[in-house]
Amino acid sequence: MLAAFKMISDQTCILFHEYTNEMNYIEFISGTGCASYVGFQGGAQPLYFGRGCNVGNLCHELMHALGLHHEHTQPDRDQFVTIQWDNVVSGKEDNFKVKEGDTQDLPYDYDSIMHYGMYYFSSNRNPTIDSKKSGVQIGQRNHLSPLDIARLNKLYQCE
Ligand SMILES: [Zn+2]
Repeated sequence: MLAAFKMISDQTCILFHEYTNEMNYIEFISGTGCASYVGFQGGAQPLYFGRGCNVGNLCHELMHALGLHHEHTQPDRDQFVTIQWDNVVSGKEDNFKVKEGDTQDLPYDYDSIMHYGMYYFSSNRNPTIDSKKSGVQIGQRNHLSPLDIARLNKLYQCE
């Protein structure tokens, strides 16, 4: 968890500290899977982490809590990726629907820690997301991309 905080605080003006008596805060709940709400909810806001949730996954969930949607749900995504709807697990289609939001005037980013990988929620081992640009990797959970950093810094007015 501390390593996930550091991934964000090293590159932005966003700082994390332990709960004292704040009205609004993130409550880490151990359980199954990794999950977070997108953006401020108010009160004790749950962020779920399970055994399969590594540092990069936790960082990804924290970015959701900070207000970021998935990269592949940006309004202009159809110029960059193709969603293979026929391969998506039935009932999980919402994870691939375009979301309304402010992209901070930054371009689409295949390298984003908020991008899904090719096979997420595949029902049949075939890709659910194909890149329109050849040779790009999607779905990394190792680092914040330069554009991830820029997006957080703009959103939180760090500069
Ligand atoms: Zn996510």
